[in-house]
Amino acid sequence: MMGGMTRRILVLGPPAGGKGTQAERLAAELGVPHIATGDMLRQEVAEGSELGRRARAFMNVGELVPDKIVVAMVVDRISRPDASGGWVVDGFPRNVHQAQEFDGELGAHGVDLVIALEVPHADIIARISGRRTCANGHVYHVEHKPPKEQGVCDIDGEPLFQREDDTEEVIRHRIEVYVDKSRALLEFYGSKGVLRVVDGSGNPDQTYQHVSALVTAEG
Ligand code: AMP
Repeated sequence: MMGGMTRRILVLGPPAGGKGTQAERLAAELGVPHIATGDMLRQEVAEGSELGRRARAFMNVGELVPDKIVVAMVVDRISRPDASGGWVVDGFPRNVHQAQEFDGELGAHGVDLVIALEVPHADIIARISGRRTCANGHVYHVEHKPPKEQGVCDIDGEPLFQREDDTEEVIRHRIEVYVDKSRALLEFYGSKGVLRVVDGSGNPDQTYQHVSALVTAEG
């Protein structure tokens, strides 16, 4: 079996850096849940929950949702039975404080592997501006991964739209937030010896080859 004991994995990277695509594929291969904080938060917003109402104000301007909310959400999710054999989390943590809090919650057996995708800024803008998604979070790109029928999800037939926070101004701010926070975050995991940086500038298949090779090697 692929991966051996390497089952508690974080996928970090810039906005639209391919985190979701890579994490989903890796989770499927390992047979563990894919947990994406951005997707979970968007779900809360769509449902109009109390948490969603609080989160939306931050998300719409490209700011981070308060650490306390997000850490509690992830800790709750990984404590469910389907996550007992491991998980692939993407989009979390976003800063050192979240990482420290999460580490404290995990206890002695911390994170096994942190995969950091590296993608040039110019590519990020191109990827985000072409990104389209359905209400269930299936993601397309107008050029690189178009749906079979324009504007309609292949998987569930739902209409495709552009995320509210994928406008140029908000994108720019999300990238700033990432640049501002990620260095210290990567240092945090680097010092624990679990960080692996992956070239995410190629197409999804090329990037996945690197990701998959890493997990096999670490297993
Ligand atoms: P994403 O789908 O990962 O790009 O996340 C979209 C938005 O959700 C971010 O711009 C933040 O506002 C919020 N978000 C997602 N994950 C986190 C997190 N770990 N901490 C704080 N905010 C988050």
